[in-house]
Amino acid sequence: MKTQKRLAAGSGGSIVVDRCQVCDAPDLEPILFLGYLPPVNTMPLIGTPLTEQPAYPAELLFCKKCTLAQLGLIVDPAILFPPSYPYTSGTTRILRENFAELSREIDSLYPLKPKQLIVDIGSNDGTLLSNFQKDGVRVFGIEPTNAAKLAVERGIPSIISFFNKEVAVKTAAEQGKAQIVTATNVFAHIENIHDIVSGILALLDDSGIFISESHYFRSLLETLQYDTIYHEHLRYYTLTSLKHLLETHGLEVIHAKRIPTHGGSIRVYAARKDRYPVQASVAQVLDEEKREITADAFAKFKRAVVNSKLDLLALLKEIKSEGGRIYGIGAPSRASTLINYVGLDDGILDCVVEIKGSYKIDKYVPGTIIPVLEEARLFADQPEYALLLSWHIANELIPKLTERGFKGRYIVPLPAPRVQ
Ligand SMILES: [Zn+2]
Repeated sequence: MKTQKRLAAGSGGSIVVDRCQVCDAPDLEPILFLGYLPPVNTMPLIGTPLTEQPAYPAELLFCKKCTLAQLGLIVDPAILFPPSYPYTSGTTRILRENFAELSREIDSLYPLKPKQLIVDIGSNDGTLLSNFQKDGVRVFGIEPTNAAKLAVERGIPSIISFFNKEVAVKTAAEQGKAQIVTATNVFAHIENIHDIVSGILALLDDSGIFISESHYFRSLLETLQYDTIYHEHLRYYTLTSLKHLLETHGLEVIHAKRIPTHGGSIRVYAARKDRYPVQASVAQVLDEEKREITADAFAKFKRAVVNSKLDLLALLKEIKSEGGRIYGIGAPSRASTLINYVGLDDGILDCVVEIKGSYKIDKYVPGTIIPVLEEARLFADQPEYALLLSWHIANELIPKLTERGFKGRYIVPLPAPRVQ
């Protein structure tokens, strides 16, 4: 079993990644450097005298042996998730639809029987598990934030806890082994990934199936989502790297499928070796990765990222020279990367607006003094342009904002900046 020698968690600082976090190979290849980025949840209140702020190098490294992409620095989660960082529900429409689709897929491929148990790691408010509360199936959620309380209120048994081997063993002792374990959008965030997988094995029945969904590295390359690179996201998986990780622990990948969540993810089914037939989807995705994840693709990606920055700046310069006002729409974590990498400041972006009730309101965008204001300002002020910082859901956002009365034009910053 490979274990990381030193963890950033509890260090109060950061550690350099000098070996691949999945396969331990030492020669990691740099793909892209986005500069030194501030922690995305460190947002001073508007009007606070400005003082020093930390910034961490954001370099994307690639492992040639297992094809995992990973950040070159791991920052202590205590810095990335300060106590002031509140829980915000991550269950958007696209996520709810994805969870409903996942439950239908499980029903058809590997149906659960009455009394069998499904455990969701990082279960949030229980949205995924709520789809399985039928036919006598037992559900159980493990969630590190207070969102678990919402799940319990909805009748979904859950505990508030980080997931690790110890918690897995305890859960198995109390609830029994699980026929299905799910972990959606979890594998990128947790530092000691090998401990997580060995915990999953401790929890999984002999014939059990583990299903993970992770942001997919190919989607990042294809749609130029460099703005999803920030220090909360430690890794960007390929199927090849997930296969390597799971096989290290005796799990076999039996099915894989690309899904649209988080701008493009991969859903991977795994079980103990030789328990289930391996579907053709596995070889197919692995082949595609061999063809597409190449040095040429990385060079092209880097050029495209740089060009998108220059093109966006050129577009914004034109608008500003005509006296146009530009409001940013939404301050998701990815907005911080885009704003800091492109170099937007309060002279370019007048403000960023957030939905009423967001804890980000009345604060500055990390690394800048661009104010975050309530969304009502967009409709009251009617700036000439709205810059969509959640551009990956532009098609969902634009009709909504227009319907609610915004009369200006929209700037979609990526993959190629455009006005519509
Ligand atoms: Zn590796």
